[in-house]
Amino acid sequence: MLLRQLTAYKPIDDESAGSRPYSRIRNVMWELALNADGTPRGDLVPLADPSDPITRWGLKILVPNTSRTSGIAPNLGADDILYVLGWLDEKSEPDWVAERHEAFAEQSRRWARERPDDPAAAAVARFYERDLIAQVAKPTDHKWSSKDLVIINVSGVPATDSDSMWQLWKTIVEERKSGGRRGLCIVCGNVDRLLDRMPQSLPKALIPRAKQEIALVSANKPIHGYDYRDKLATAPICTGCGQAAVANLTEIPQRQDAHVHLPAATHPHGVVDHRAGQQSDD
Ligand SMILES: [Zn+2]
Repeated sequence: MLLRQLTAYKPIDDESAGSRPYSRIRNVMWELALNADGTPRGDLVPLADPSDPITRWGLKILVPNTSRTSGIAPNLGADDILYVLGWLDEKSEPDWVAERHEAFAEQSRRWARERPDDPAAAAVARFYERDLIAQVAKPTDHKWSSKDLVIINVSGVPATDSDSMWQLWKTIVEERKSGGRRGLCIVCGNVDRLLDRMPQSLPKALIPRAKQEIALVSANKPIHGYDYRDKLATAPICTGCGQAAVANLTEIPQRQDAHVHLPAATHPHGVVDHRAGQQSDD
C-alpha cells in the first residue's frame, strides 16, 4: 500500500521528519529580535534581498507548518506578520486579524506555561504580556504585507532552534487534527490516536500544474466517503503515520534524482522536472 511504503521510507535528513514534525522549509521575510526580558531589539529585520536571486523571497528556514484551510490556526515561533504582530495591511479585515493575533499570543504564552525552563518561551511570552508590540515600528523603507512570514529570534537564537517549541508544536497539531479518536491504524496496524484530517498538505510547487496545495488523503464531504462519513472516518490513520507519510512524500520529489512522470496523453514528453520554474515555497 502506498501509505505503508511512504512511512517506511527513511529521509536522508532525518531531522526534518523526526524531531521537527509538521514543518516545512519556507521563505522567511522578516525577523523579530527580542532580548531575554521580552523587549524588542529594534524594529523588524528584513531577511529578503531583492537584488539576490537566492534570497529575493527571504531566507529558507525550517518552520512549523500545518494545513490551514479555514479558522484560526496559529503556528509557534514563526508565522505571518498578522499572527505575530497583528498588523493590518490595506487588504486586511481588522476583526479577522485581531482574532488570529490574539490566538498566536495565547499559544506563545502556553509555550511558556508548559515549558517554564525554556528562556526563549519566557521571552516571547513576556513580549506579549507586557504588550511591547508598540515598540516595534512598521517598516517604511521596505514593502511588507500581513501575510509575510516573520521568525522570532531571542538573544540571537531563532525560536525554531528550541526543542521544547517543536515538542509543544507536535502536541498542538495532533490536538487539532485528531479530535482524540483512538483505533486501529490501517498503515502500521497499531492502536493509536487517529487523525480526522491529514496534518499537512503537499506544497503545490512540488506537483506539476497544481493550482493549490494537495491533501494526500481527503474526504471533505460525506459523499466522498465510503459510507457517507467525511474526514478520515473510513481511512483510520494514526498521527505518527500521517505525519511521516506527508513528510516523506514531500521529501521524495525534492531528491536530486527525482522525476515526476505524467501520462503521455496529458504531457507530450511524459517526464517533467519538478524543479523547473519553482520559485516560491508554497
Ligand atoms: Zn499508524
